[in-house]
Amino acid sequence: MGLELTPGVVYGDAYKALVGHCKENGYALPAVNVVGTNSINAVMEAAAQNRSDVIIQLSNGGAAYFAGQGLANQQDAMVLGAVSAARHVALLAEHYGICVVLHTDHANRKLLGWVDGMIERSAEERRQGRPPLFSSHMLDLSEDDLDDNLNDCERVLEKLVPLEMSLEIELGITGGEEDGVGSEFDAADNAKLYTQPEDVLAAYDRLSPIGHFSLAASFGNVHGVYKPGNVQLRPEILKNSQDLVRSTHGLASETPLDLVFHGGSGSETAAISEAIRYGVFKMNIDTDTQFAFAEAVGAYVTENGAAFQHQIHPETGEPLKKLYDPRKWLRQGEKGIVDRLRQAFDDLGSKERSIAAG
Ligand SMILES: [Zn+2]
Repeated sequence: MGLELTPGVVYGDAYKALVGHCKENGYALPAVNVVGTNSINAVMEAAAQNRSDVIIQLSNGGAAYFAGQGLANQQDAMVLGAVSAARHVALLAEHYGICVVLHTDHANRKLLGWVDGMIERSAEERRQGRPPLFSSHMLDLSEDDLDDNLNDCERVLEKLVPLEMSLEIELGITGGEEDGVGSEFDAADNAKLYTQPEDVLAAYDRLSPIGHFSLAASFGNVHGVYKPGNVQLRPEILKNSQDLVRSTHGLASETPLDLVFHGGSGSETAAISEAIRYGVFKMNIDTDTQFAFAEAVGAYVTENGAAFQHQIHPETGEPLKKLYDPRKWLRQGEKGIVDRLRQAFDDLGSKERSIAAG
C-alpha cells in the first residue's frame, strides 16, 4: 500500500514502481494480447471491474491486424498498428481509472526492424515533449547464441533508456507456437525449454548497468494449450536464477530479477503462485482470452442463427437487425474476455491491488 499513481499508461519510474509494488506484495499482472479496440476495451473494462492494473500487449501480427489487413504494406502496418493501438490506450486508460503497462510481444531477429520502427516513433514523441508510446518492448533472440542475443539486447536497451522505456528479453525457448515466433513444440527434445541460471547471470551483468529490463525465462512453459503431461513446469529454475544473481552480487533483494511468465494459458494455479514467489510480475495470456472471445461469439451465433443468414426471419417475418448488429455479437466476445480475466486477476492475486489514485 502507500504507492499511488495517476491512472493511465505508466512508463519510466512509474512503471518501475508498479513492478516493485507487484513483487513486494506478492502478485503479478496479466499481460493480455490484443488485436483491436474490442479486445483492448474488454481488457480495460475487466481491470477496472477488478480494481487491478493490467498489461496490454501486441504481437507483430496483432499490431499489423490493428492497422488493417487491407493495408498494402504489412511491414509498415506492424508499426502503424502498434502506434494506433498505443494512442487508443493512452487516450482511454485514465478514464477506466487504472494503470496500464503498454508492451509489445516477441520480436525475433527478423522483427528487429519492427522494434526499431516503434522506438523511432517514441523518440519522436519525446522530442515533442510527450510520453513514449510504450512502457516497454520485447526482444526474443533466444534462438541465437547467448552473445548474439545479449549484443542486440544491449544495443536496443541503450536506445530505450533515454526515452524512459524498458526492455523484456528472453533466454531459453518457450515451446509452442505464437504468431510464427517461438520454436515448434517437441516434447522429445526439450532441453532448451529450461533456461540456465548462468545465462541469466550473464544477462544481468551486461544489461543492469544500462537500464531496466525484465526477463522471460523458460521453465518448461509452452505457448498455447496442449494436452497436459507433455512438459513439466519447473519454477525452481526461476529461484535458482534469482539466487545466483543475488549471491554473486551480494544483493539484499531475494528477487533482484523482474521475471515474466510466457505461455501462461492453461497453467495450474499452484505453479503460478510459485512463479510469483520467485519474482514473476507479469504473466502472458493470449490463447485463453482468444478462446473466451470465440466461445462467447460462437454461442451467440448458434442461438441466433437466423440473424446471420437473413435480414428478415423467413418464417416469422420479424426484422433481425437488432440481432445481427455487430455491437450485439462483438459485445458477447468482449464479455467473454472480461469473464476469463476475472479468473486471471484471481489467480495472479492482483484483484483490488490497483495503485491508481482515486
Ligand atoms: Zn511468449
